[in-house]
Amino acid sequence: MAERRLNILHLYPENMNLYGDRGNVLALAQRARWRGIPARIVNREVGQAVDWNDVDLVFMGGGEDTHQARIADDFLELGTELAARLRSGLPMLAICGAYQLLGRYYETADRIQLPGLNYLDVWTEAGETRAIGDVVTYTDLSIEPRSLVGFENHGGRTFLGSEARPLGQVALGQGNNGQDRSEGAVQDRVVATYLHGSLLPKNPHLADLLVTWALQNRGIDEPLEPLPADEEFSAHETILNRARNS
Ligand code: GLN
Repeated sequence: MAERRLNILHLYPENMNLYGDRGNVLALAQRARWRGIPARIVNREVGQAVDWNDVDLVFMGGGEDTHQARIADDFLELGTELAARLRSGLPMLAICGAYQLLGRYYETADRIQLPGLNYLDVWTEAGETRAIGDVVTYTDLSIEPRSLVGFENHGGRTFLGSEARPLGQVALGQGNNGQDRSEGAVQDRVVATYLHGSLLPKNPHLADLLVTWALQNRGIDEPLEPLPADEEFSAHETILNRARNS
């Protein structure tokens, strides 16, 4: 039987880390450790090697256009191996700038087209204005509650092709493009979203789904022990109330 462990590969923590995105990695590791599952975070910057046999979950955060441009070539090089592993079930959480670069391309505000990995069936073009503010979205993922809350700040407008399904529908905020009410994308075990915040400390149910997927990918298919989450859900509820009162 495979051993329970959670090795998280954190891609480009120096360049891709906006609005507390790093907190997602801390939340994943801590929720695993609280259950007695050893967790390790491996930071990887441009040009460094990856030992893929030691990766249970990948995280990459958001970045400004200039930071995305800095890592884009390296990410493409890494991309062939990464996309193959994502297709065969390796879980990943990708926020904002990372979400954009997992798709076909991201056209920046300066009209420079950064090619993406072409793994997610989505494409992104910078709009005239930025989408900024609290977000409440309701997801079709099998988690309870269905609500996910966070904060968005992006110029890119993302559109989904037929292979990607939205992570959720927005009840508050702009989401992918401000037009079709969709937010984020899900393909295989990859969750991509515009939600910063950090996202996972106030959405512990999503954190636990990612940890569950990571264990499943190691051949361990058992439900996680429940953890008390009153403080996490009280933060969650605060943002939900903003949506109710808006
Ligand atoms: N630079 C991208 C945009 O503005 C991503 C920003 C982000 O990661 N918050 O759309």
